Amino acid sequence: ITMEKICIIGSGNWGSAIATKIGRNAAMLPFCNPVVNMWVFEEEVNLPGSNDLMKLSEVINTRHENVKYLPGIKLPENVKAVTDVKEACKDASLLVFVLPHQFLPKLLPVIRENVHPKSRGVSLIKGLDFDTHTRMPVLISESIEEAMGPGFTCGVLMGANVANEVAEGKMCESTLAGDFGESNEKIRQIFDEPPNFRVTRINDVAGAEACGALKNIVALGAGFVDALGLGGNTKAALLRVGLLEMARFCGVFFEGVDQGTFLESCGLADLITTCYGGRNRKCAEHFARLRLGDTSNKFSSFQHCSELWASIEKDLLNGQKLQATLAIQEVYLLLQSRNMQSKFPLFCSIYDVAFRGKEVMSIVDGINALAFEQ
Ligand code: NAD
Ligand code: 13P
Ligand code: CA
Repeated sequence: ITMEKICIIGSGNWGSAIATKIGRNAAMLPFCNPVVNMWVFEEEVNLPGSNDLMKLSEVINTRHENVKYLPGIKLPENVKAVTDVKEACKDASLLVFVLPHQFLPKLLPVIRENVHPKSRGVSLIKGLDFDTHTRMPVLISESIEEAMGPGFTCGVLMGANVANEVAEGKMCESTLAGDFGESNEKIRQIFDEPPNFRVTRINDVAGAEACGALKNIVALGAGFVDALGLGGNTKAALLRVGLLEMARFCGVFFEGVDQGTFLESCGLADLITTCYGGRNRKCAEHFARLRLGDTSNKFSSFQHCSELWASIEKDLLNGQKLQATLAIQEVYLLLQSRNMQSKFPLFCSIYDVAFRGKEVMSIVDGINALAFEQ
C-alpha cells in the first residue's frame, strides 16, 4: 500500500479525540490520503445555547466539532463525518475501530465488502467477548480479524489515554500492539504526535488488549473504594492486587503474553489513570454511594443492579457508554464456568458488589484475599 486511506469507525468521546491526532497526521504525512473519513452514528443534537436540533454529522462537517461527545475541541477540517458505513470505509486501507464494542458486529460484514483488499485495522476498543462454546475469552481484535476474513490483521492501540485529556493536548503515552510487517512504522506515525502523544509499538496484542479491558473492571473497585472514603493506601492496594489479577488472567487465558507489557502505557499506566479519572470509576463511585444509602434489600437482584447501572450511565455520561459493567459480567461468567472464582477474588468481589447485592465494604475482602493468598 503506497497511499493510506484511513477510515475511523466511531465518533464518540475517544473516537473524536483520536480523530484530532489522525487528522493532523494524515494531512502531513506523504504516504496518507489527507481526507480521513469518520463513520458517525447519526443522531440529532442541540447546538450549545440553542434549542434547534441538528444532525450530528452536519454539525461535525460544518462546525468541525463533535458538540455532543467531545465539546470544545476543534476537529481537523480534513476529518469528514460520513453516516453511511459503506461509503465511509470505501477502499480504506487502514480501519480504526473505536466504538463501544456492542455496536460492532452488525457493521463488520458491510465493512468487509467495501475496504481495500489489503486493508488492516487497529482497534481502540477496550472490551472482551466470551465464547460460550469454548469457554474462553475472545479478544475484540480477534473477532474483528475473523469477521473481516483471511489475511486481515488487526492490532490495537491501548494506553493511559482519558479522551478529554488527550484532546486537550496534554502529554501522554500510548501503546500500539501488532505486527503489520513493513507498515509498522507508518502505522505508528499515523497515531503518534510528538511531543504530546507518544506511541510505542510492541508485538503483544493479547497482553495489551486484555489489559485495556481488565483495568476497567478494577476501576469499578476504585469507585467503590472512593465512595467508602478509604483513602490512598487502600486504593493503591486495590491497584496492586488488580494488576496481579490482570496478569494472572492473561497467564491463564492467553498464550505468550509478555510480562513487559504490564509496564507499558497500556498496562500499569492505563490502570492508574482509569482508576483516578475515568468514567467507569466515576459511575462506580456513584453506584456505591446510592447503595450505601439504601436500606432496602432490592440490590441483591441482578435485575435491579442492572437497572441502576443503566440509569447512572444515562444520568452521568450523556450518551457515552460504560464498558466495565459488560466486561465484569463476561469475566465472571467465564470464571464461574471454569470454577475459578477463588483464583480471582478481587474480580469476583467487584462482581458481587456490582451485581449481587454484596455490601460495598466487601471490596476490602477482595483485596485482602489475593494479597494474603497462601
Ligand atoms: P462513547 O462512550 O463516547 O460512546 C458513545 C458512542 O456510541 C457515540 O459515538 C454514539 O454515537 C455511539 N452509538 C450509540 N448508539 C449506537 C448504535 N446503536 N450503533 C452504533 N453506535 C452507537 O465512545 P468512546 O469513548 O469513543 O469509546 C469507544 C471505545 O474506546 C470503548 O471501548 C472505550 O472503552 C474505549 N476508550 C475510551 C476512552 C475514553 O476516554 N473515552 C479512552 C480509551 C479507550
Ligand atoms: P473510562 O472508559 O473508564 O473513562 O476509561 C478511559 C480509558 O480507557 C483511559 O485510557
Ligand atoms: Ca492476528
